[in-house]
Amino acid sequence: MSSIMGKTLHVDLTKGKITEQAGIDEKVWKQYLGGRGLGQKLIWDHIGKPPYSTPDEAREFALSPGNRFVIMPGPLTGTPAATSGRFAVAFISPLSGTTSAAIAGARFGMLVKRAGYDAIIIDGKADKPCYLNITEEKQEILDASDLWGKTIYETDEILTAKHGEKCSVGCIGPAGERCAPIACVAHEKSSFAGRTGAGAVWGSKNLKAVVINGKQKIGIANKDEFKEINRKINALIKEKPTTGEYLQTRGTIVLMHVENMHGTLGVKNFSETGNLSYEDCQKISGEKFWNDYNWGKEACYACPIGCHRKLYINGEFLPQAEYELTWGFGANLGNLDPYVVTKAGDLCGQYGMDGISTGNILGYAMESTVKGAHDFGITWGDGEGILRVVEEIGKGEGVGAELQMGVKRCAEKYPETADYAMHIKGTELPAYDPRAMAGVDLGYATSPRGADHMKSYMVGCTTLGTQITPKELLERTVLNHDKITFTIGMQHESVFYDSAVLCLFLALTPVGVEDMAKLYSTATGIDMETRELILSEERVFNAERLWNLASGFTVDDDTVPKRFTTEQTPYGGSKGTISRIKKAKKMFYEERGWSKDGVPEPWLTKYLDLDEMRTKLGV
Ligand code: SF4
Repeated sequence: MSSIMGKTLHVDLTKGKITEQAGIDEKVWKQYLGGRGLGQKLIWDHIGKPPYSTPDEAREFALSPGNRFVIMPGPLTGTPAATSGRFAVAFISPLSGTTSAAIAGARFGMLVKRAGYDAIIIDGKADKPCYLNITEEKQEILDASDLWGKTIYETDEILTAKHGEKCSVGCIGPAGERCAPIACVAHEKSSFAGRTGAGAVWGSKNLKAVVINGKQKIGIANKDEFKEINRKINALIKEKPTTGEYLQTRGTIVLMHVENMHGTLGVKNFSETGNLSYEDCQKISGEKFWNDYNWGKEACYACPIGCHRKLYINGEFLPQAEYELTWGFGANLGNLDPYVVTKAGDLCGQYGMDGISTGNILGYAMESTVKGAHDFGITWGDGEGILRVVEEIGKGEGVGAELQMGVKRCAEKYPETADYAMHIKGTELPAYDPRAMAGVDLGYATSPRGADHMKSYMVGCTTLGTQITPKELLERTVLNHDKITFTIGMQHESVFYDSAVLCLFLALTPVGVEDMAKLYSTATGIDMETRELILSEERVFNAERLWNLASGFTVDDDTVPKRFTTEQTPYGGSKGTISRIKKAKKMFYEERGWSKDGVPEPWLTKYLDLDEMRTKLGV
């Protein structure tokens, strides 16, 4: 019995029809792995060739009924493999205009498979608000008119009460309903397909929620060998202090002191990176949260780490405590009030907005205001203002009506604010200052969906280190061919984790590609040799590149915001560093087998079996 379920579910919202379809061919699984790779392939094959030729047109298309949304667990999702509670969603992004895959957790992906499906493919647009109720026995499109306007928490509670505690609810909040391009989809109120606007795509389809449940067994093809390799991976997780202790106790906020010490923590919209004293950092650190406010932790299905933290603070139980949010609403805004930081994250959770983008947007608004470029009515450290503006973004009111569109669009409207808009391809930057780490800037610039630390986990490797990272590459500012090769390796590793689907935090352990190939083979029964797995990772990354090229992205879009190439890091552990992205990009294209225009060379697409796709796309 394989961990692949052998069926997909196709939902046509325009026709109001749901059909079960045959499973996916074994060769396609092998070539695109699952999750991120296969989910996007199901979109590329469906659309054929982008019916647009510029990124702006792509962003518009993303909110049309022609955009397809794929909920795609991976072949390891829902198995006993460590951290296998993860799954992917794929779509054309309304924020970046690129092809995109976001990863989330909880039990949602596992239950998609227990309902019997490898993927749920959603097309078209319903004529009124609806939600999907999917189990092994029934698959139905139900009326969601009475849910429209409700927050994530309210929607989840209503649907859980109606369909039972054992179901898992994925839903959007008011931000998604309004198609705000920073809107996310929340699963079980706590795990978000956060980046690049998945929630807006649901909103554009009038899809409020998906309720999923199932009891079907997820098989394992070779139980003994699977157990053996999984035991090894669990031991490696335990052995490494980051995964075996720090993330388990303090959650992802454990990174605050680490990143601050290295001078990689963005401060005040990256204008004062490094300018946070130890004492100030302590006020919003993992240690502070753990000692004073912790009331519990949450873990995705089958995760021995459990990095999510729930806090009790100022008389409120607040569930959204993560490093990126603590950066975004804390150091990034000159705010050291732990309640404001946590409450702002909680509001993002309620309205259904990506916390990274929202924090970044506030940093843009504050710097624009302080430097006199445009008055958004909010300045550094204004705690009350932070909560007010996050709420306004959530409701699409006041300054939130403009800010909800993301920093790229705001800067287009107010060109004098352009220098403060920290985005790549329209996607807002996350917490890490790319000047301080050669390779991180490159990872951001060449990520298929814009500024994203998760599509090449160089941050983890250069500030936390892994036992497989060559020591000299941990020198953060070194830029040489080895660093470029390592960045490419990390991009490929992320393809695997996003496609299998497993948690990217495994990249912080010495789990190797041989272990991954073995895990894949023993779970699925598909014979996957290590070299084939490496080839598939490279194939997915290059296929994403071809799609983005056909969407009108060019070499000029592979860049970082101007600040990072013109201003040195001003303070702290990385003082004086600057991004050498131009040089890095040139080396990267050569190393990848791309032309100087960033186009995969014909020999490469032939080698990766991507010629058919390339011809179809006309790249
Ligand atoms: S480490 Fe955190 S994000 Fe990763 S699988 Fe575990 S609980 Fe989920």
